[in-house]
Amino acid sequence: MAERILLIEDEEKMARMVELELLHEGYQVAKAYDGVAGLAQAESGGFDLILLDIMLPGLSGMEVLRRLRRTSDTPVILLTARDAVMDKVSGLDTGADDYITKPFAIEELLARIRAGLRKKTAPEPAKGGKEGGAVLTAAGGLLTLDVDRHEIKVKGEAVELTLREFSLLQYLLENKGRVLSRDSLLEQVWGYDYAGETNAVDVYVRFLRSKLDERFDLKLIHTVRGIGYQIREE
Ligand code: CA
Repeated sequence: MAERILLIEDEEKMARMVELELLHEGYQVAKAYDGVAGLAQAESGGFDLILLDIMLPGLSGMEVLRRLRRTSDTPVILLTARDAVMDKVSGLDTGADDYITKPFAIEELLARIRAGLRKKTAPEPAKGGKEGGAVLTAAGGLLTLDVDRHEIKVKGEAVELTLREFSLLQYLLENKGRVLSRDSLLEQVWGYDYAGETNAVDVYVRFLRSKLDERFDLKLIHTVRGIGYQIREE
């Protein structure tokens, strides 16, 4: 079964170009040209991934995302205008899984779509044939991350993270005690060339701190000035 992608984009030429590329890659594609129609289609379900322009007539992309997230965790990649940092930040905050800045190379968009779909549809099997999969811990065992079940608990309470937040936390935990640079985090967690977007790391660390450190009164993720981030046991 071909994976189904919903494209919500009001610039029809642009939408058509992206659609042709996606069809060529073997995806099924549905399009909507404004926020209201896009939200209605998104809520009808059945999509594996949604590409969502932010500047839309009717209902803004951000509002579409906010409403959609009440009922759906379908991966969403935002299409943002160049340098609209605030869009990116509030988009990620609202529950987008990724964003790409216009104008983008189609190859880059395809890479991000594949990454988004991979995480959604096929959680990677535990490497090295480990039985039962890995459970990573921090804060003296107060936080547990179950890789196979894709679950995080803090003090016994389940915590909801976006796919990207989860991946970042997982990588930090797998390297507990090591200081990880922003560049290495981008490379390992985002998995493709995010050159010049190192502030994405800071943005996501902020999200994790808000969902973990602040909410549960922990001191999990440490900033190592001039280098990057580290999780260590106190
Ligand atoms: Ca637009």
